[in-house]
Amino acid sequence: MTTQIQQLDHELIQAAAQVARTRCRGDNHTMAAAGRAPDGRIVTAVNAYHFTGGPCAELVLIGTAAAQGVYELDTIVAVGDRDRGVVPPCGRCRQVLLDYFPALKVIVGAGDRTRAVPVRDLLPESYVWADHQLDAD
Ligand SMILES: [Zn+2]
Repeated sequence: MTTQIQQLDHELIQAAAQVARTRCRGDNHTMAAAGRAPDGRIVTAVNAYHFTGGPCAELVLIGTAAAQGVYELDTIVAVGDRDRGVVPPCGRCRQVLLDYFPALKVIVGAGDRTRAVPVRDLLPESYVWADHQLDAD
């Protein structure tokens, strides 16, 4: 089972690396992300940099997935262009990913330390937006 999971994680990293290699361009698109849905579908995206706060690849991926009818993700990974390898999500993305997909696993680490960790582990003592919507029934 562990080996199978690791193989799936490797495939996801390769999917993101392929997009990073072939689709990232200039300063606007420097990161690629790949996410795997529960049914095995893989969704990919690149960031859309802008000085006003353009979204990271992980955030673009959430919208891209929804546009394809994918509303749940099991695992996500981001890879930098110019062979930078796996890049961990920024703080904003950690919060957004936790709120959208509480059970999500995020692939982090470089080389033989690459591993999938629960998004909750990347944001200890986190603010959970849904817990504070007191007027919602
Ligand atoms: Zn981010």
